[in-house]
Amino acid sequence: MLTDDDYRSPGDPRVFAIGDVAARLKDGAARRMETWAHAQTSARKAALAILGLPSEPEPTPWFWTDQCGHNLQILGDPSAADAVVERGEGVRLYLRQGALVGAVCLDRPRDFAAARRLIGQTLKPEIASDPSVDLRKAV
Ligand SMILES: Cc1cc2nc3c(=O)[nH]c(=O)nc-3n(C[C@H](O)[C@H](O)[C@H](O)COP(=O)(O)OP(=O)(O)OC[C@H]3O[C@@H](n4cnc5c(N)ncnc54)[C@H](O)[C@@H]3O)c2cc1C
Repeated sequence: MLTDDDYRSPGDPRVFAIGDVAARLKDGAARRMETWAHAQTSARKAALAILGLPSEPEPTPWFWTDQCGHNLQILGDPSAADAVVERGEGVRLYLRQGALVGAVCLDRPRDFAAARRLIGQTLKPEIASDPSVDLRKAV
């Protein structure tokens, strides 16, 4: 179902859609996100709108999946990047104009947690690419 930014139907302000069925209109395009995290964040945003409370900044979208004994986590929008930093075998960091816009981590939950905190910040590629250095030091 099409919704506005608060997951409210543009056709009827009493109707909301969250999770997989919500197709949120943003920048002229309808976008669905089928992830466990989005089911939670969209529910919270819709609940705030229903209660008439101010909306909160939204966390950067992310999801995980377990495949063939491995844990894959994806953050943000890697397709928006203009540069990719390889951080050892299991981590790719996606930068746009030097700022972190996405990350893909395979069996690297600590790096993923750090990337979630660093999203939007400018990273020093020479530090970020060294897996022996704490990623948080790349800012
Ligand atoms: C096979 C599979 C693997 C996935 N793996 C991942 C993953 O690794 N990571 C990740 O982030 N996401 C994953 N997802 C996506 C994730 O599960 C969904 O994005 C998330 O569950 C969506 O939550 P939801 O509440 O919108 O919908 P749902 O979880 O589908 O919940 C909708 C509920 O509504 C109920 N319902 C439907 N119709 C009616 C009705 N008429 N009356 C009453 N109840 C009704 C359904 O029974 C269901 O319980 C996976 C999905 C699938 C199918």
